[in-house]
Amino acid sequence: MPEDKAPQQRRGSASLRSASREAAQERRSAPQRRPLVAANWKMHKTIAEADQFLERFIGSIGELEAVDVVICPPYTALAATIERTRRSPVLIAAQNVHESDSGAFTGEISIPMLSELGVAGAIIGHSERRQHFAESDQALARKLAALLAADLLPILCVGETEAQRDGGETESVLITQLDADLAEVPGAKLGQVVIAYEPIWAIGTGRTATPEQAQEASALIRARVAERDREAAAAIRVVYGGSVKPENAAELFDRPDIDGGLVGGASLDPEDFVAICRAA
Ligand code: PEP
Repeated sequence: MPEDKAPQQRRGSASLRSASREAAQERRSAPQRRPLVAANWKMHKTIAEADQFLERFIGSIGELEAVDVVICPPYTALAATIERTRRSPVLIAAQNVHESDSGAFTGEISIPMLSELGVAGAIIGHSERRQHFAESDQALARKLAALLAADLLPILCVGETEAQRDGGETESVLITQLDADLAEVPGAKLGQVVIAYEPIWAIGTGRTATPEQAQEASALIRARVAERDREAAAAIRVVYGGSVKPENAAELFDRPDIDGGLVGGASLDPEDFVAICRAA
C-alpha cells in the first residue's frame, strides 16, 4: 500500500466499522439478493470437453431456479457453450475483457466482440491476471465502467495475499482495491456489480477461508459500498472464492453477507459444481 494512503485508510476504518454495524441493522429490511455461483474454468477445457461437461451439468440443474449460475469458459469455448446453454438458465461469461471497443491491442478481446456472441458478462481483476499480467486497478476501473455501460455483468475480484493478512492489512488492501476499481462506476449502476472476495492464499491451494473470515471480509466490502450508496450496498452481490468445494459451500454461503461463490477447481467437475450451486 502506498504510504500516503495509510492515514486516509485508517480514518476510513473507523467509519467503515460504523457503516458495517449500520449495514447489519438494515439487513433485516433489505431486499432479498439472488444468489450467484460462477465457475471460473481458467485455461481448462476444449470445446469438446466443455460440451461433455454441459451435457452432464445441464441434465442435473433443472430445478435450480433461485440461483444465477454463470460459467466462464476460455474465449475459444464461448460461442459453443452459449449455443449449448441456449435453452437453459445457465449464463456464459468471459474471464477477462479489454475496455476499448477496438484498437491496436494484440491478443485482446473487446466488449462488442463478447456482446455479439451473447456473452452475459466477464470476470475482471482475478488475482492471476493482476499477478501474471500486471492488470492494474486503473485498467480495472475502466473495464468495470465499460461492462456496465454495455449492460454486461461484471464480476470484480478483490482479495489479499497471505502476507497482507498476516500483517493485518486485509482491510486496507480491500479498501484500496474497491475504491480504485469502483471509481468510474456511475452511482445508478453500482448495485449491479458482483464483487468476489477472493483471498489469494485460498485460491487453488485447498485452503479455504473460514466462514467467519469470509463473512467479515464480505461485510467490510458491503460497508465500503454503503459509504457511497446504501441502496447499492444492500443490492450488490458479494460472493466468496477460494477453494470452494461441495463440502464447504453451504456453510460459507449461509453467512448473511455472502451471496454465493466464484469457483475454480471444483467447477471443472459437473457433479461437484451442481452440488455447489445447490448449496447456494
Ligand atoms: C478462482 O480461480 O477464482 C478460484 C476461486 O479457484 P479455486 O476454487 O480453485 O480456489
